[in-house]
Amino acid sequence: MTTKSTIISCACGACYEREERTLPIKDIGMFECLDCGARVEIWSGRTVPVFKRVKQPSPQQRSA
Ligand SMILES: [Zn+2]
Repeated sequence: MTTKSTIISCACGACYEREERTLPIKDIGMFECLDCGARVEIWSGRTVPVFKRVKQPSPQQRSA
């Protein structure tokens, strides 16, 4: 079994590490961005993604 992780970046600037897991039973679900609520992925089946946030979007930036 191989575990492959990829980095998904949302339009809001958040980044997620995505891994796939294989379940013994089918699962249906979806993942939404924790910061902006955009739908990132919908799945249905035994292979489901697991997301871990690795980068938050920058807060409103002031001129530095
Ligand atoms: Zn987002």
